[in-house]
Amino acid sequence: MLTRHIDPRRKIIVLSVVAGLCAAIIIGSAQLFIARHNHEQKMDAVLAGMQRWLSDYFTEIARSARSLQPLTTNDCADAASELTSRAAFSINVRAFLLVNEGTAFCSSATGPMNVPMKTLLPALDLNKTLDMAILPGTPMLPGRPVIAMWFRNSQGNSRGVFATLNVSLTPFLVYTVRQQALNGIALAVDHKAISTFSKEVADLRSLDARPFRSVPLPGLPLTVHLYTEKWQAQEIQFALLCAGMAGIITALLTALLMYTRVRPGKEILSAIKNNQFYVVYQPVVDSTELRVRGVEVLMRWKHPTAGEIPPDAFIQYAEAQKMIVPLTLHLFQLIARDAPVLKTLLPQGAKLGVNISPGHLHTENFTRDIEAFRRALPEDHFTLVLEITERDMLQQREAARLFSWLHNEGYEIAIDDFGTGHSALIYLERFTLDYLKIDRGFINAIGTETVTSPVLDAVLTLAKRLKMVTVAEGVETPEQARWLQENGVHFLQGYYFSRPMTLEQFVAWRPAPFSTRR
Ligand code: C2E
Ligand code: CA
Ligand code: CA
Repeated sequence: MLTRHIDPRRKIIVLSVVAGLCAAIIIGSAQLFIARHNHEQKMDAVLAGMQRWLSDYFTEIARSARSLQPLTTNDCADAASELTSRAAFSINVRAFLLVNEGTAFCSSATGPMNVPMKTLLPALDLNKTLDMAILPGTPMLPGRPVIAMWFRNSQGNSRGVFATLNVSLTPFLVYTVRQQALNGIALAVDHKAISTFSKEVADLRSLDARPFRSVPLPGLPLTVHLYTEKWQAQEIQFALLCAGMAGIITALLTALLMYTRVRPGKEILSAIKNNQFYVVYQPVVDSTELRVRGVEVLMRWKHPTAGEIPPDAFIQYAEAQKMIVPLTLHLFQLIARDAPVLKTLLPQGAKLGVNISPGHLHTENFTRDIEAFRRALPEDHFTLVLEITERDMLQQREAARLFSWLHNEGYEIAIDDFGTGHSALIYLERFTLDYLKIDRGFINAIGTETVTSPVLDAVLTLAKRLKMVTVAEGVETPEQARWLQENGVHFLQGYYFSRPMTLEQFVAWRPAPFSTRR
């Protein structure tokens, strides 16, 4: 089959796979990009939520501290009850301490005290209006991390309010559970941090993870850090799934598109359009004088990539693809174009043998096509011989009608490849046929076997009885030619006389006189 010569399927498969891979890569990366983008947006939303919550919270604490500032000028005894109730009603406040001249003198938790802030919390800078520190614990609740905050009194003199806050990350942890993408959160002052990674205060730099986002809280020396996996396994899986599906769908669509593009017979039509077909002529000589009495026209296909494709392959292919009619019409055109030159090479009445496929012979338009072909040839010079095979006669009734029409119109019919088909003998009696072309398989045997083929003998006897004119195909040696002459075969065709030739070769052809003499 033709596919052996030009295999469109391989090309389709390769191209489809390539298209599929490209689509997979593009869609896969696009999906990763989108997932990444969505993830970042989600994280930013989480962060914005936290920022809002924390800002509100610290604003609230600042407000409470502000309202406590007047108490810093009082005695602890006067201030204690207000201090305690304020601490009790402020969310997450562990204690409020009043500070004067750098010394904490009153605590909402323990009442009067006298501890210099330098001792209590050397990290805090009392000169700042607001300062913060993260501590591993307080004397009353050691081991429970706490945020310490300093609010300086506007009147200065190292006076102010000091607060210790239980900043619990629990609400965020709850949120974290919902956000599988979120690995953890940390609140940090300088490098000290309270985080979801540890119950204790940790140094940010000692954490294994690198934060995905770090944002300072406006107006506070506090930074929020958000941790997340760089690539979520789920995202990757989903991207791979998308890539796989896109790849498969694209590959299938490409294949489908290409299959419809190279739809059956497309090559034949485009080869016709691109002039890839050409014809060759093989002389047929009479066996008595060995002079050229006609030619058989044979078609050739010079494919741009597959090279010369043998007619056995492409004729079958064209038949299978229902392209034989346009192909034969093209053949007619090619012959008609050569005909004026052929006329100068061949005597009046020369036979022009053309091979006709059954797929064409039995179409409605065949008679019209063959008439048009004859009209395209020089008038009254050639006799058209239609070479058909035995299987073309299977539709007996139509064949009988067609053959008699052809005979009436002056066409001749040759039965081709005789002896290779099935049960041809019956047709020989039933139809009037002009020539019997003996298949070259039988001719081959002449000279190689001591006794010639009994089938060949039978064929020749039969032809004689039916008074049919015989043509031997595939005559390659003078011995074969002589044997055929002696056995009454009328015409000879084969490499011994000439290989099929292009018109140019035929014009230049000057054979030495043929001889079959010993
Ligand atoms: P075919 O009609 O039997 O054509 C004769 C074949 O035998 C040709 O093969 C020819 O080149 C080859 N041949 C001639 N002399 C010799 C010889 O001495 N030795 C050997 N070994 N071979 C010889 P080709 O051209 O390859 O064509 C093969 C077949 O393809 C043809 O067989 C015919 O059935 C088909 N074909 C060729 N051209 C056409 C066409 O235009 N239309 C149709 N329908 N079929 C065609
Ligand atoms: Ca033939
Ligand atoms: Ca033949």
